[in-house]
Amino acid sequence: MFEKLALVGIGLIGSSIARAAQLKGLARSIAISTRREETLDEARALGLGDSYERDPAEAVRGADLVILCTPVGAYADVMAQIAPALAPGAILSDVGSVKQHVVKVLAPLVPAGVHFIPGHPIAGTEHSGPAAGFAELFVGRWCVLTPGPGVDAGAVERLRAFWSAMGSKVECMSPEHHDLVLAITSHVPHLVAYNIVGTVADLEADTQSEVVKFSASGFRDFTRIAASDPVMWRDIFLTNRDAVLEMLGRFLEDLSRLQRMVRVGDGAGLEALFTRTRAIRRSIISVGQDTAAADFGRPHPGEAEDPADGGDKI
Ligand code: NAP
Repeated sequence: MFEKLALVGIGLIGSSIARAAQLKGLARSIAISTRREETLDEARALGLGDSYERDPAEAVRGADLVILCTPVGAYADVMAQIAPALAPGAILSDVGSVKQHVVKVLAPLVPAGVHFIPGHPIAGTEHSGPAAGFAELFVGRWCVLTPGPGVDAGAVERLRAFWSAMGSKVECMSPEHHDLVLAITSHVPHLVAYNIVGTVADLEADTQSEVVKFSASGFRDFTRIAASDPVMWRDIFLTNRDAVLEMLGRFLEDLSRLQRMVRVGDGAGLEALFTRTRAIRRSIISVGQDTAAADFGRPHPGEAEDPADGGDKI
């Protein structure tokens, strides 16, 4: 158990950590800080913490676990404010969806004696803000930690135990490996979704209203992904550029191959590919990362009857 947990940023992810930490008794007190007064009031009304501060330095003072839960683009500003107030021996972590950039921005600013252990819970929804969070968000989901060489092993174990207690499966890896894996499992799929929904947005009005009216499940699933927070996703593509471009290049080569199969009527090729992709879907279900239930009308996290259903967005 931690004495004082400080959450800087209290949106979907920060508020889910607050709720899970309260539920599981993982911190004696929880300090919450956020940029805008309205969000702070909302967090207070939801009873997410024990103290509420606009000034992040006040929130982190005396905390033995500090987790940054703002968009990655705000880290440099936030860190400049909190660095002098971080207590020696404290663990400083985050939940950002990219890791190399986070290490580049934060590591030089971490005061001596503070254990810096970046993190990324691979769990989320397309909703934002303190009201969108729920305590079960992390249950059964992976949380990746990317401690640098020489980081105190005891601190890593404490943070691992914290995420495990919230229901996560925890794995350590390098920031580079994290960014490459997430580029193909999350970032490029989001780019494809933003693009296909953007194509519809650009269609002439008549066709567009028909797409909306007759939207089949394939398009509907893309619209859910493409409804994700614009600022957060802007920051992801600005900060994981190399890995995204590498995976996008491979994706485009494969798409060209697929285009050719359609053009030349290569039925056997199409069937062979779709058989391989179906096997991947089945293996995701068999390791418990999704359910086999048809998606039509399936409750999604935040609106779910069973909040543990889904919640694996990024
Ligand atoms: P969110 O619901 O939009 O909440 C963002 C929080 O950060 C709010 O408290 C907001 O404060 C604060 N904030 C926004 N811009 C800021 C700025 N420029 N300076 C200081 N504070 C700022 O976001 P979220 O979905 O929880 O995402 C937070 C982090 O989690 C991101 O780094 C993201 O990469 C990561 N993550 C997200 C997901 C997901 O699916 N959403 C999954 C895994 C990891 P105010 O409301 O007071 O402005």
